Amino acid sequence: MIDLNDLLEQVWPIAAQQATPTEYVSLNVALNRVLAQDILSSLNVPQHDNSGMDGYAVRRADIQPSSCYQVSQRVPAGASPQPLQPGTVARIFTGAPIPPGADSVVMQEDVVVNDEASVTFNATPRLGQWIRRTGEDIATGQVVLAKGTRLDAIHVGLLASIGVSTVLVSKRLKVGVMVTGSELQSPGQVLQPGQIYNSNEYVWCGLLESMNVEVRSVGIVPDNLEATCSAFQSLADCDAVISSGGVSVGEEDHVKPAIEKVGQLRSWKVAMKPGKPIAFGHINRQGGGQSWFFGLPGNPVSSAVAFQLIVKPFLGLLEGQTREKVDWRSRTRKVQAEFAWPTPDSRREEFLRADVQSDKAKLFENQSSGVLTSLARSTGLIRLAKGQRVNPGDWVDYVAYQDLMR
Ligand code: AMP
Ligand code: MG
Repeated sequence: MIDLNDLLEQVWPIAAQQATPTEYVSLNVALNRVLAQDILSSLNVPQHDNSGMDGYAVRRADIQPSSCYQVSQRVPAGASPQPLQPGTVARIFTGAPIPPGADSVVMQEDVVVNDEASVTFNATPRLGQWIRRTGEDIATGQVVLAKGTRLDAIHVGLLASIGVSTVLVSKRLKVGVMVTGSELQSPGQVLQPGQIYNSNEYVWCGLLESMNVEVRSVGIVPDNLEATCSAFQSLADCDAVISSGGVSVGEEDHVKPAIEKVGQLRSWKVAMKPGKPIAFGHINRQGGGQSWFFGLPGNPVSSAVAFQLIVKPFLGLLEGQTREKVDWRSRTRKVQAEFAWPTPDSRREEFLRADVQSDKAKLFENQSSGVLTSLARSTGLIRLAKGQRVNPGDWVDYVAYQDLMR
């Protein structure tokens, strides 16, 4: 058996070394794509000193409490103000540029309006108050987003805020999916005796969609060698292919023999629970070249966990994401167990599904690798070393699902 950490050190560098083809895309299709360049701002945000409040722009030295001041101009957002006449004030609105000569803004709640043209202040303003400074958000030349960032909605908005309309990103990966098992039936069909619904395909496809990769699924493949080989071959032009089930060494497990026929296999028993048998390798393309291959176990929890811990980071690295961004191990933290785990596995580390609130971890009652509800009703995984016993109150390693990959 191989330890998970050792497996990751064998597999991830392969993806990290591979060059990632790039393309320019428009901002409105850039969501969840991976940046292939550092983005530097060509402008200051904000572009001008502007008001953080509806109120009055003043020159602080002019202002005495209880004196009357003439309102010499009105500056709505989008206007281009005149220099402030000495001894007067300017009516101003949130986001409007500060008139040259003004150095502070008094919010309208602190002003007595005598009439439209004259106001009185209750107090002397603080110098610079309620002014948003030029470049205080982003300065010209600043690196706004680094190469290797997967663009979320905020990132895309940030790019828009500096006027960027196209970005250089990694080309979309094409990822092939197949699920093996003669017992599998599609949702929407009637279950015959002995059949179960195929859920793994939906979990993977959903996780892959959130990476904005192109998913090519051939769906359910029955447990025989020929069908398994031809399904793999039909996906050989993908960048990577993932299969579920049939990866053990039983008579009904055809994934490993099939990969040996159509490509090259390296397989491991990974010392982790859930998710022990994992196959890796490649599928040869007819015209040359190859597709990376992962064979994951069929149990729904094993397949989802192995996908998240091993495969998704691999795909992220293929897309040019940085190691720091994909390596979930740096985002594990300590939480306090509100449960006991008295009989740990001495040979395999364990990933337990837990609900963590305010650093207190409750265990989902059924930790079987077959129950998908354990993933649906938990917030993340508790990582226990081989043989690690847990008593209530112990601090244990935990990684939240939302931190598995950024
Ligand atoms: P296997 O790895 O093929 O031995 O499958 C292990 C268990 O996972 C079996 O109980 C299968 O019925 C179940 N399983 C396999 N593939 C799927 C799938 N696509 N969706 C849901 N369960 C599955
Ligand atoms: Mg099977």
